[in-house]
Amino acid sequence: METRRRFPPPSCTSPSPASTLRSLPAAPRSSGDRIQASDALPIPIRHTNLLFSLLFVCSIVFLMRRWRDKVRESIPLHAVDLSELVSIISVVASLIYLISFFGIAIVQSIVSSHEDEVDDFLPDSKMTPSPAPSSDLAMPVLAGREDEDIIAAVVAGKTPSYALESAIGDCHRAAEIRREAIRRISGRGLDGLPLEGFDYGSILGQCCEMPVGYVQLPVGIAGPLILDGREHYLPMATTEGCLVASTNRGCKAIAESGGAASVVLRDAMTRAPVVRFLTAARAAELKFFLEEPTNFDNLSVIFNRSSRFARLQDIQCALVGRNLYMRFCCTTGDAMGMNMVSKGVQNVLDYIQNDFPDMDVISLSGNFCSDKKSSAVNWILGRGKSVVCEAVIKEEVVKKVLKTSVSALVEVNTIKNLAGSAIAGALGGFNAHASNIVSAIFIATGQDPAQNVESSHCITMMEAVNDGKDLHISATMPSTEVGTVGGGTQLASQSACLDLLGVKGACMESPGANARLLATIVAGAVLAGELSLMSALAAGQLVKSHMKYNRSCKDTSKAASN
Ligand code: ADP
Repeated sequence: METRRRFPPPSCTSPSPASTLRSLPAAPRSSGDRIQASDALPIPIRHTNLLFSLLFVCSIVFLMRRWRDKVRESIPLHAVDLSELVSIISVVASLIYLISFFGIAIVQSIVSSHEDEVDDFLPDSKMTPSPAPSSDLAMPVLAGREDEDIIAAVVAGKTPSYALESAIGDCHRAAEIRREAIRRISGRGLDGLPLEGFDYGSILGQCCEMPVGYVQLPVGIAGPLILDGREHYLPMATTEGCLVASTNRGCKAIAESGGAASVVLRDAMTRAPVVRFLTAARAAELKFFLEEPTNFDNLSVIFNRSSRFARLQDIQCALVGRNLYMRFCCTTGDAMGMNMVSKGVQNVLDYIQNDFPDMDVISLSGNFCSDKKSSAVNWILGRGKSVVCEAVIKEEVVKKVLKTSVSALVEVNTIKNLAGSAIAGALGGFNAHASNIVSAIFIATGQDPAQNVESSHCITMMEAVNDGKDLHISATMPSTEVGTVGGGTQLASQSACLDLLGVKGACMESPGANARLLATIVAGAVLAGELSLMSALAAGQLVKSHMKYNRSCKDTSKAASN
């Protein structure tokens, strides 16, 4: 799924059922017990209602009797004494109260039922995995039942597997029961998949549904990478032998040459909804409307309301017949930003629907964004952080550490990464193995691994400099999509890896600085990986080192696969 909504971390974290039950989120209020204006009254509402109803009836009865007597005694009705005056005031007051109370309640119920309908049709809610899919299971109704009974109910299809967390109120127990139910249903075990040692509460409604365990991945450390004068130790989660060793060698070559430098050229996450009109002319009208500076300023205000950190920068439009694709670009602080930008886009669509009531919103994402797919739009215009990283590797380092020559590296780079990728029709793939490094760091630091597709877009350049003695190497990466808050970044292991890099969580002094730094570190690590693998290829070492590392693992190697 491209778009996702995250829920606040639930309180279902403790393995202890008792404490878990205490901390379970409250069951959603039904429409019948929504917050009412009357909740603010100091005494129970039924007492107040009774009081005013009695006051109304008593006053009316008193007035009727009094007026009947007056008519009998031929006293004019307008000659009002104090008791009549008090009764009239009481009637009016109680009437105002009763009309207001029942009027508001009726209006509130109409509005509420309308809101429910609207929510059901919001694109976001369509995409939203419900942490408590069934309201009657929102309370831990099965908490007191034996495991065996619950497993049997799941196997028989009586209790939905997805509802176990809310029905039991203990995320660990839910995973254990689901696992056993799956074993019985499928007839296959999950023996190698660990269950213990993971906080299942931390992923509920946020990172993964229906867990039954977790996959173990080794994390290796390459570095230090000297980047912009700072040292970084790179956590890499991978099962590919040679990858960490190779990146480490690249880091060493960079360090011995004085370090690498980076620049963030652009910082903008994108989301592009597609809308349709009856005619192309009308779609073009909206395009021109969006391109009008005053309209853009107004829309920015609407968009930016979605978050303290979302700031609309640009809307790029493309027309296909009567369909209009609007690529919203915005900064998102330290968050990778997909949720944030999607919320902002929804706000804007709701707003422009007033001026363009004939606009038919086909999809909140029209693929012109473009998320988790290889596309020229990201390669050319950028998405997330656009970064360039460079280093000058000294001649002696190329010889001593990389075991090759500057001329050989330049030649292999031109023929492989540039010409070779050109004849392959590459889109953003003008590199040796950027995705190896991007994926390993993404997984270690809790990024969205599927965004490796566009985040690995990279062109690696190598040129001889300083009279042909030294090597200038650069990695240009236009769409590195990273964040240090939200999603998987807050999980314990991933958060530890971010901490190692010094970019854990939100940057308080300058929101967005942590995410930008992480993007430069990724680009620096890619630079190191490119340097090492290209050297191995130039020196003809690739197969040799893979045989050493992927087969025996006794020695450290210098190359990774591409
Ligand atoms: P994403 O938009 O990447 O999918 P989230 O939906 O989790 O991520 O949004 C990030 C959340 O973190 C938002 O609620 C935002 O208000 C909060 N937040 C706190 N500090 C920051 C920060 N420095 N930058 C961005 N978001 C932040």
